[in-house]
Amino acid sequence: EVTIGILALQGAFIEHEHALQRLFMAPSFLRQRKGINWKFSTVQVRSTEDLERCSALIIPGGESTTIALLLRLSSLLEPLRAFSATKPIWGTCAGAILLAKEIANPKKGGQEVLGQVSVRIERNGWGSQVESFEAPLEVPKLRNPDEPFTGVFIRAPVILSLLDDKDAPIEEIARIPEDLLPAESCDTNTSKEDRHAQALVALRQGNHFLTTFHPELTEDDRFHEFFVVECVLDYVLKAKGKQRL
Ligand code: GLN
Repeated sequence: EVTIGILALQGAFIEHEHALQRLFMAPSFLRQRKGINWKFSTVQVRSTEDLERCSALIIPGGESTTIALLLRLSSLLEPLRAFSATKPIWGTCAGAILLAKEIANPKKGGQEVLGQVSVRIERNGWGSQVESFEAPLEVPKLRNPDEPFTGVFIRAPVILSLLDDKDAPIEEIARIPEDLLPAESCDTNTSKEDRHAQALVALRQGNHFLTTFHPELTEDDRFHEFFVVECVLDYVLKAKGKQRL
């Protein structure tokens, strides 16, 4: 059995759970896991015992400082750190901030992160005037790659730059049109390379997956499918010492 947890302390966790349950019933998903007869299930994670049941975890959008505080209060921060060192995690929006190695503008007094994905990220980076918007995303790695994905951005973070990490390459999964990028960021001296990175709104590094927007707020489950098929199944099969079927 493959159990995917959704951290359920704050934010849009129910929407993620519904999207996964829809996915597990979808014919396109059943075809992709042909030959793998495991049962897929979800669990809302609020305690270490919940986390121990999971092969992978989604950290939803919400408010990254609040989620970090609640993780500490529920004694989940250290177990989640240990989990993140080996198992797949998908962070959406606030979850992406928690997965990042560097926050350019952390909350005053500091902000705890899991520090797993080699990006420098700016909270609320699209500027205060554009707190919330939708944009068509290029998704070359998803099913039906010619069909753009509607990205829902809500006080979303911006990936300011990719950090050097030769051991773990970053795979680009989705981009936003560059003319929609904010004119300025909190980093001065933005290079052309950084500018290119800033249009990245979904990426994968090893087991981990990061999206700065909210795929769970649409009916389009292609990002959930990507996470489960590419990140989770790869991990589970490797853990069992088998080849991908
Ligand atoms: N601005 C939020 C934060 O800093 C993220 C917003 C979201 O998850 N929709 O955590």
